Amino acid sequence: MNFQNTREFAQELDRQDELAKYREEFIFPQVNGKNVIYFTGNSLGLQSKAAKKYVEEVMQDWGNLAVEGHFYADKPWWDYQERFCQPLSEIVGAKPTEVGVMNTLTVNLHLLMVSFYQPSSKKFKIICEEKAFPSDQYMFQSQVAFHAKSIGFDPKEAIVEIKRREGEHNIRLEDVLSKIEEVGEELALVLIGGVNYYTGQVFDMKTITEAGHKVGAFVGWDLAHAAGNIELKLHDWNVDFAAWCSYKYMNSGPGNASGYFIHEKHHNDTTLSRFAGWWGHNKERRFLMEPNFDPARSADGWQISNLPVLTLAPYLASVHMFAAIGMPKLIKKRDLITSYLEFILHEIDAEIEGTEFEIITPSNPNERACQLSVYLHGQGRALFEYLMKNGVITDWREPNVIRLAPVPLYSSFEDMYEFGQILKKGILG
Ligand SMILES: *Cc1c(COP(=O)(O)O)cnc(C)c1O
Repeated sequence: MNFQNTREFAQELDRQDELAKYREEFIFPQVNGKNVIYFTGNSLGLQSKAAKKYVEEVMQDWGNLAVEGHFYADKPWWDYQERFCQPLSEIVGAKPTEVGVMNTLTVNLHLLMVSFYQPSSKKFKIICEEKAFPSDQYMFQSQVAFHAKSIGFDPKEAIVEIKRREGEHNIRLEDVLSKIEEVGEELALVLIGGVNYYTGQVFDMKTITEAGHKVGAFVGWDLAHAAGNIELKLHDWNVDFAAWCSYKYMNSGPGNASGYFIHEKHHNDTTLSRFAGWWGHNKERRFLMEPNFDPARSADGWQISNLPVLTLAPYLASVHMFAAIGMPKLIKKRDLITSYLEFILHEIDAEIEGTEFEIITPSNPNERACQLSVYLHGQGRALFEYLMKNGVITDWREPNVIRLAPVPLYSSFEDMYEFGQILKKGILG
């Protein structure tokens, strides 16, 4: 499409946008009496109007029914989490029995590593990406330290990072594959962010998963920036496990619950260790209070506690909205609006001397989703602060990078145009 950097053109794209109506379903913060231009849905998604309704429903049931709400609430609490399975399975490309919700993301990855990182002295290495999200790095370090002494391997050798090449911003697939081959038999686990949080790079999960399996490793994915943002086929890609937070693209509210995936081929495997709790017990027999753990033969078998229904309520509102729209429509708009934002950035850059906006996110549409990370050469933090004061909510990462995520559910094309104008004013003064 031949884009134009005009308000009329942006408005025309909004008129043609079949998802435009969903913008009304969200609550935007206001700056200077106007809706903000929200680019941080990759960090905390906006609140939907439905979220409050779902929470109020639970509050009312709690007041009216108290303990009886477990069985007699409109959406009974004892199996409230099961309502997620169908819609979530569609979002991540899984069978409903392969997904669930519980805990928070890093906690779930730790629990999944209990099952899928069982190192021996010969097979103990973990492959991850260089500069992984800090929580993942701390997780790897602490998991390795937890096992190293009793198994007898050197913790310093256990974590193998895939590096970017000199002068490049993104990791090459060929470098991931050759590293997997190089580590070979010693490789116990590959665990990478499906979409890199800093650059927005999307990894080829199918190919990497295959390569990991070829050397006998388990392969898992941290899908914090992927769930609700990209097309996933976790079952078909034969991924062993995955987890994601719900408060980024899935709009479930601050710090909210994590979704997880465990491939069905592992559901009956009793050799996998796991940390158990009563909510993972055979569902029909859960309330018999039996002494011995008999795990449910599905992803449910990894559940531990009864679930925080109040916090799941806004997440359920969100998965219902995603299910109603479907990922293909979201992805179609995502690609168009992200390309339009990229165009606007190039236009503004060309109009201003002495600056260079270097988009470090891959330009190949197969390797990116809705985030553009922009290196603002020649600009400082003052520009970021100017944007925030003028209603453009973005985030700043050292040394000089802003991350912009136009979220297809609630961002408009006119937002992109308007952002360009504010950006230009912020630089030219
Ligand atoms: C946001 C994010 C997290 C956050 O983890 P929590 O346990 O939810 O605090 C973890 N990993 C990645 C890659 C992220 O982007």
